[in-house]
Amino acid sequence: MTKCESYDLTAWGKPFEKAVREIPDLPDKAVLVKVTAAGLCHSDLHIKKGFMDLGERGKLTFTQRGAQLPLTLGHEIAGTVEATGASVTDVEPGQPVVVFPWIGCRTCLACDEDRESDCSAMRIIGIHRNGGFATHVVVEDEKFLVDIGGLDPAIVAPYACSGITVYNGLLKAGLTRPDEWLAILGAGGLGLNAIAIARAMDFQNIIALDIDDAKLESAAQMGADKTLNSTGGEAVAEALKEATDNKLFAVLDTFGSEHTGALAVSALAKAGRYVVVGQHGGDFKMPQIWLPQKAMTVRGSHVGNSGHLRTLIDMYRQGKLKPIPVETRPLDQVNEAIAELESGKVLGRIVFEPAKGV
Ligand SMILES: [Zn+2]
Ligand SMILES: [Zn+2]
Repeated sequence: MTKCESYDLTAWGKPFEKAVREIPDLPDKAVLVKVTAAGLCHSDLHIKKGFMDLGERGKLTFTQRGAQLPLTLGHEIAGTVEATGASVTDVEPGQPVVVFPWIGCRTCLACDEDRESDCSAMRIIGIHRNGGFATHVVVEDEKFLVDIGGLDPAIVAPYACSGITVYNGLLKAGLTRPDEWLAILGAGGLGLNAIAIARAMDFQNIIALDIDDAKLESAAQMGADKTLNSTGGEAVAEALKEATDNKLFAVLDTFGSEHTGALAVSALAKAGRYVVVGQHGGDFKMPQIWLPQKAMTVRGSHVGNSGHLRTLIDMYRQGKLKPIPVETRPLDQVNEAIAELESGKVLGRIVFEPAKGV
């Protein structure tokens, strides 16, 4: 019998440890995927730590969110189908696929309408189910797999989280008009994908902000028209207004902190839209009367839907999406890689290749 080797979180905040477990018999609809690429996401830092920052309300722990240890993290997964349950018909062994990890309860209205990201009882692969920092992952239904034949798994795996998260957010922000501006806050994996996807969606004028000049350089290479270092206080909002000629109508916040929130609502033009997808944490504060007086939309967006993933893979296949910089590593470097991501020095995405050995 095939065994699954993985690097697991066995205690909150502690390094990942190597584990070996038996792969159980597959339920009828399930698919066993051999993992060829598993992206390391900022959320993995939060999960490892065990909680998210709720500002004055304290912490939201992953235990409260239904996660249990030991757990294999990793939710940006691509691989090849290794085995299928008895009633699987649409995928076959050997087929390259990317995994949609944001599986919902499959009984509520949102799930019924394939709006998995709006489900309030999600069963996420890499949080509630074992994920991709492993040689194998079990996916409960073939409908959560998207064919990636002919594509590089390390490039497309991040679309399963960072890609669809920003795509969903940009759809909610709504397309800007030709002389209007979109600001992308943060130029990490999410932010760089946001620039590429916004370009493909026909956003015309894009400005990227980050506190790191090296990341801003990557943002420019990905297609941002302008970049702005966001280190500092109120002056940054003024600089952002000036750089966008007071026509900043959409902000996608891939960082999601008190600082980025204050910056966005200060710099937006009247009737502008602020959409938050990043989950750095803290409290969001703004003068209440700005909501009516600036006719402002403040909106959150959580990950994305399986349909979004299919659309992005199609867009990439058609050559519409510029890939973000990706660095592949062996899975046994997961602890070093997570420390690097924490230090803020990673450009683009680190993607592990578990199928090459753990
Ligand atoms: Zn993620
Ligand atoms: Zn649901």
